[in-house]
Amino acid sequence: DANAAEQELTDGFHLVIDALKLNDINTIYAVPGIPISDLCRMAQGEGIRVISFRHEQNAGNAAAIAGYLTKKPGICLTVSAPGFLNGLTALANATTNCFPMILISGSSEREIVDLQQGDYEEMDQLAIAKPLCKAAFRVLHAQDVGIGIARAIRAACSGRPGGVYLDLPAKFFSQVMTAEEGNKSLVKVIDAAPEQIPAPSAVKRALDVLKSAKRPLIILGKGASYAQVDDKIRELIEKTGIPFLPMSMAKGILPDTHPQSAGAARSTVLKDSDVVMLIGARLNWLLSHGKGKSWGSEPKKFIQIDIEPKEMDSNVEIVAPLVGDIGSCVSALLGGMDSKWAKAPSDWTGAVNAKKEANIAKMAPKLMNNASPMNYHSALGALRDIIKARPDAILVNEGANTLDLARGIIDMYQPRKRLDVGTWGVMGIGMGFAVAAAVETGKPVLAVEGDSAFGFSGMEVETICRYNLPVCVVIFNNNGIYRGTDVNPTGGADVAPMVFVKDARYDKMMEAFGGVGVHVTTPDELKRAVSAAMDSGKPTLINAVIDPAAGTESGNIGSLNPQSVVVKK
Ligand code: ADP
Ligand code: MG
Repeated sequence: DANAAEQELTDGFHLVIDALKLNDINTIYAVPGIPISDLCRMAQGEGIRVISFRHEQNAGNAAAIAGYLTKKPGICLTVSAPGFLNGLTALANATTNCFPMILISGSSEREIVDLQQGDYEEMDQLAIAKPLCKAAFRVLHAQDVGIGIARAIRAACSGRPGGVYLDLPAKFFSQVMTAEEGNKSLVKVIDAAPEQIPAPSAVKRALDVLKSAKRPLIILGKGASYAQVDDKIRELIEKTGIPFLPMSMAKGILPDTHPQSAGAARSTVLKDSDVVMLIGARLNWLLSHGKGKSWGSEPKKFIQIDIEPKEMDSNVEIVAPLVGDIGSCVSALLGGMDSKWAKAPSDWTGAVNAKKEANIAKMAPKLMNNASPMNYHSALGALRDIIKARPDAILVNEGANTLDLARGIIDMYQPRKRLDVGTWGVMGIGMGFAVAAAVETGKPVLAVEGDSAFGFSGMEVETICRYNLPVCVVIFNNNGIYRGTDVNPTGGADVAPMVFVKDARYDKMMEAFGGVGVHVTTPDELKRAVSAAMDSGKPTLINAVIDPAAGTESGNIGSLNPQSVVVKK
């Protein structure tokens, strides 16, 4: 009968959902609309968790960080043209950061787009996405979507991870085929990120260089945290006794309080080391490209572990490139060290420790001041105690001074607990990262946000309230970008471009959606409010009043601002 015949059919909508489920992808970060509204509804109906956002960039950032946390591609689903473009920023950012992610966008009819006849939301999305991600695919026929999604997963996860674009034109979704054929067309990806074993000669070369070191240093990057081989990395570091410096998102692979952590002696170890082993960290702007003043005058030898061969020699010569996945490379190094492998020389480790103790002692009193208005140090001193007491909480962090100072002040104790602006230093990741961190891990999330940084994704506090997520947002409110003290040089009525509404009450935004809003002016109040939020698990936003004069232009990277040499009369 007609009913039975209907049951035997499937279509593009259902095949997308089935292909994702077959590959253990159970969450989609989306902004629904034409042509993917029904896909969102059906996905939820089929047991996929569909988290719906207010803006695609935030959904995309959520998918990207879900990929980082789980090693499975995070899925972002958007509508065509403008929705796609909004999501594309996050896809490009994911690719830059080496996070596996798939942006799936609906698109308009090919025939009309290609003849440029002016369709609803007409845009050649595939062509636009291509240069901004690792791979881009389009599926025109329902029977190809199984292969399309398999290719997308492989491209996102294998080798150096990154962002993938998958284009699904509106017509695709309602194409019908029999359920049996449909099922057969699906592909379960076997071993999406195959091990890449380093060559024995490359391992020996790296060990020889390491052995020759008098002042060795290990730099851990977010590739090392992504790899989820924390025990092996700890074994390598403890066996060699080498001081280690974590890049911001690598903090916590080993605790920042580990005796070999050189975090508080960063400038000393960069300057004075003679052999530097990079593990999943790039010598990009965040490490001054491996040269110049911050690297001192001592000649350096670099050993680099990376899955991407082209990363070698990108900025300076790498004397011992070790290409492979971090787990395999670190295991091979450990396997090549005999039981009498000598620890790093004690005059070096002693000098690093002395510097570190001195810097920590110098910082300590600044973190214990309870005065109002708060400055960055006193407010961060309070948050530092919170993370110490709750090491399993996830810290999301963006801003200028809020970012730079939190990175140094808040110690991390567990891997993959610090999520921040990453390789681009981009603002706007805050609420997307916070939502996905809560969804993917179920752990409490503390998002420490500059007031300006928060503005880029602030509407997602509604999303946080809607899904009742255990997210506590703390806004460091100093009335503006960098500082809140600029004045209009003409004396005119418009406020200066870097200044916001004075004494704004961001906490009221949270109350508008049923969350908890708190206004605090001292570190003690801040600490109490965050503790209460984390105990309750209720969506909370704390407006933390910071002295508008506190902070410096652009935080630590003021030198990147071009300077005018012209004085206008
Ligand atoms: P950070 O900003 O913390 O220095 P980067 O993003 O610059 O980190 O560097 C991460 C590096 O890690 C990239 O070059 C990437 O190719 C590499 N990488 C990512 N995952 C792996 C892995 N599983 N094995 C080896 N290298 C990896
Ligand atoms: Mg500010």
